[in-house]
Amino acid sequence: MTDMVRAAVQVAPGKIEMREYPRPTVGPDDGLLRVEANGICGSDVETYRGHLGGPRPAFIPGHEPLGIIEEIGDRAAERWGVQPGDRVALEVIVPCRSCQDCLTGRYQFCRNRKYGHGVTGVDTEPALWGGMAEYMYLSPTSVLHKMDKTLPAEVAALYNGMGAGVRWACHLGEVGLGDTVLVLGAGQRGIAAVVAARAAGAGTIIITGLSADAHKLAMARELGADHTLVVDGDEAADVVATVEEITGGQGADVVLELTPLAAGPVSDALLAAKRGGRVVLAGLKGNREIPLRTDLIINRALTIRGAFGVDAKGMADAIALIESRRFPLEKMHTHTFGLDEVELAIQTLGGDVPGEAAIHVSVHPSLAEV
Ligand SMILES: [Zn+2]
Ligand SMILES: [Zn+2]
Repeated sequence: MTDMVRAAVQVAPGKIEMREYPRPTVGPDDGLLRVEANGICGSDVETYRGHLGGPRPAFIPGHEPLGIIEEIGDRAAERWGVQPGDRVALEVIVPCRSCQDCLTGRYQFCRNRKYGHGVTGVDTEPALWGGMAEYMYLSPTSVLHKMDKTLPAEVAALYNGMGAGVRWACHLGEVGLGDTVLVLGAGQRGIAAVVAARAAGAGTIIITGLSADAHKLAMARELGADHTLVVDGDEAADVVATVEEITGGQGADVVLELTPLAAGPVSDALLAAKRGGRVVLAGLKGNREIPLRTDLIINRALTIRGAFGVDAKGMADAIALIESRRFPLEKMHTHTFGLDEVELAIQTLGGDVPGEAAIHVSVHPSLAEV
């Protein structure tokens, strides 16, 4: 390899340009990753549009990177349990591993965290913090998960979305054998939650989406959903009434609310949950207040849980699920792009490219253009 590394840099909202950075020198505690693929999610789209994160220095996107260990220090190899040539998936957060939050398992809330993969700016040495580059820097406290090298890269790159599905449905929603599960929102993570719920032995799985999500609802059905409901347009389904009908008036054991910005689905989530049911909230509403009938929570003895991202257990279980090859997850992958096409990749996932029905999109830096 040469001494310079090519990277896609988001310099402003709606503006990504190619730049080159010096290859970092690896010491005993850090490493260098040859990036194979990056999954793209809604937060890449919102950050590109300038709706998320506020003003920020130029940065290399790519917070769902997958790659091969190119170079690694002795102490880092021992600590992470990996060798050059191993394939790893990364978490966004680079925690300090020393504060009270880190020491008690809540490393996602680490109060000392200074860096994030796909987040930290290029003005912070050694610049290569994000996955949209040929090589990426592995910081001494980066969180790595080993993955099966024989999986196609675009399938392995599903780990982040699958991690969310597993954490929200199984760990926070505690989906068990025979449970009725309602998933509000049919994005990548909604579909991943369907797969996770199915793997956990759910009985009936219901998922909602918009008419523009028809291809995602079809995919959800193929991967395990029993009922798909379209909630907009002339034929919009009444979600609560339909769930009551399907469950014989009981309601759903577990409801996952994953829709962005909309307030109505939060009420639907509470109304569709059965007595003693669990409701997991993961759809951010842009920080606005939304009306809530708290009596429902009391009278139905509901458990409400807030979901913040994915944790190491979610990642590990999702990776095991992907590696089991039990579900044809490759069907979720719709688009592959090269490093020179990051903007096009983000626009494709964001639904801004006419005629393209995207579900899972990934950027593979070893390819310039596809
Ligand atoms: Zn993401
Ligand atoms: Zn910490």
